[in-house]
Amino acid sequence: MRCPRCSGVEDRVMDSRTAEEGAAIRRRRECLACGRRFTTYERLEEVPFVVVKRSGHREPFERAKVVAGLKAAGKNRPLSLPLLEQIAAEVEETLRLEGSEVTSQQVAWPCWTHCGGATTSPISASPACTKALLTQATFSARQAC
Ligand SMILES: [Zn+2]
Repeated sequence: MRCPRCSGVEDRVMDSRTAEEGAAIRRRRECLACGRRFTTYERLEEVPFVVVKRSGHREPFERAKVVAGLKAAGKNRPLSLPLLEQIAAEVEETLRLEGSEVTSQQVAWPCWTHCGGATTSPISASPACTKALLTQATFSARQAC
């Protein structure tokens, strides 16, 4: 880490401890060239997760929208909110493995699967998916996703 005083890049870590309730690691460093002490914080890199709409428009992925879509699709079905949230969370986790950008179709696919609109998905069905499919046999709700 470049020294704020002399711009030297050699330093030693004098102390390391967690900060921000475990969300960061605080390191106390000492520049080997000039002896200046400074502090750095290490955090998880926040990877932006973006949905590319059919129009080409990009917007941040919002799990709440997936939940809303599933909810609208299943309004006449006994789908509990915790189940919908679990499905949405699994959809998000699966999609994040695909990269930092997904298309709206990719988001819709697992939704369709849940809605009975599709029985195969390019994304393998999660346990919650399968469970939902078993209990929600057939209702078509493409438009809701
Ligand atoms: Zn220095």
